[in-house]
Amino acid sequence: VNPIGHASADKVVAAVAAGHCGPDQFPSLSYAEYCEQGGYQLWRDCVAGRRDPESIISMLEESGLRGLGGAGFPAGRKWRIVRQQPAPRLMAVNIDEGEPGTFKDRYYLERDPHRFLEGTLIAAWAVGIDEIFLYLRDEYAGCRQLLERELALLHADPPCQLPQLHLRRGAGAYICGEESAMIESLEGKRGMPRLRPPYVAQVGLFGRPTLEHNLETLYWVREIVEKGPDWFSSQGRHGRQGLRSFSVSGRVKKPGVHLAPAGITLKELIEEYCGGMLEGHELYGYFPGGASGGILPASMGDIPLDFDTLQPYGCFIGSAAIIVFSQHDRAREVALNAMRFFEDESCGQCTPCRVGTAKASKLMEVSTWDQPLLEELAQAMADASICGLGQAAPNPLRCVMKYFPEEVG
Ligand code: SF4
Repeated sequence: VNPIGHASADKVVAAVAAGHCGPDQFPSLSYAEYCEQGGYQLWRDCVAGRRDPESIISMLEESGLRGLGGAGFPAGRKWRIVRQQPAPRLMAVNIDEGEPGTFKDRYYLERDPHRFLEGTLIAAWAVGIDEIFLYLRDEYAGCRQLLERELALLHADPPCQLPQLHLRRGAGAYICGEESAMIESLEGKRGMPRLRPPYVAQVGLFGRPTLEHNLETLYWVREIVEKGPDWFSSQGRHGRQGLRSFSVSGRVKKPGVHLAPAGITLKELIEEYCGGMLEGHELYGYFPGGASGGILPASMGDIPLDFDTLQPYGCFIGSAAIIVFSQHDRAREVALNAMRFFEDESCGQCTPCRVGTAKASKLMEVSTWDQPLLEELAQAMADASICGLGQAAPNPLRCVMKYFPEEVG
């Protein structure tokens, strides 16, 4: 079985050796280096029967690891649910990373590609998966070359017998980061979200029960099992548990991926991890969870950032993409920018989203917003859209009306 689908292992290795591919620019740990550092030993132990699936799943449950693509569903519980479904079961790894401001998956993929691959293989073993599909954002061309090279090396000299592994390319659609749209895309169809139930854990890829995970969730599996669930669950701040990889951008001195305790506040994150605000910039507001997670003002920079903590404010952390803006920015402009993005990326399947995002963009262009009409529209979109894109699209505009009324009144 060719693990990379569309090019032979020899061709990829030869192309990289000839300098035709770009992954050498990444500071990534190679397959050999990863193995030298104990990599794939845990997977070997699993396959050899020195570990049992139940104990690994229990460790994940105890660690509190949650889906880090944005939904935050407990990872161990998901493994258990899919494992109880009838075989054959499939697995889909979501590396579409399309939420504006999010770049943590790319960060980990460029540096340590085998760590998430080992997590993927351990999950596949524990859940009893027959075939694995990796769905990679097409804009990550260098990552694709890197992954093709490393998969070829893994396939040429596997630590144990590999399940079938396929690498698939997205085609630049934001909506294909939504799990059911990604599954449609993997099946070769136009990426449009499905109505649920049934959930993909029951009826997913090609009609089979499917374990769907974001790259970063799988990245932590090895470390949690090796160090123990307490290592992960004992981290956190302000009563929260675990670690979060914040993709920070905007008006800070040190943007980038910052691994910090779950529950850290924005102000703590900026001071302790981002070197403070840029010279001449004062904190004015921030997106706590990419374009769809809403906008909060500087006065609300002390809220613990984690799953479940931002809902009372009409926001969510999602994939932990923090975009910081200053007194030189306007909340209404960033909200309009986000709404135009959603208008562009709506799959068009349902009216509240397709028409609502277009209508809202127009209504947000005028200097004084028709707030009752926008609120009515936002409610219809949140209530009646099929998927999270249309449901969350009004978050930034609602936050502007609530927290920055002086900009639109
Ligand atoms: Fe498509 Fe938007 Fe409806 Fe989602 S909410 S299914 S993106 S039209």
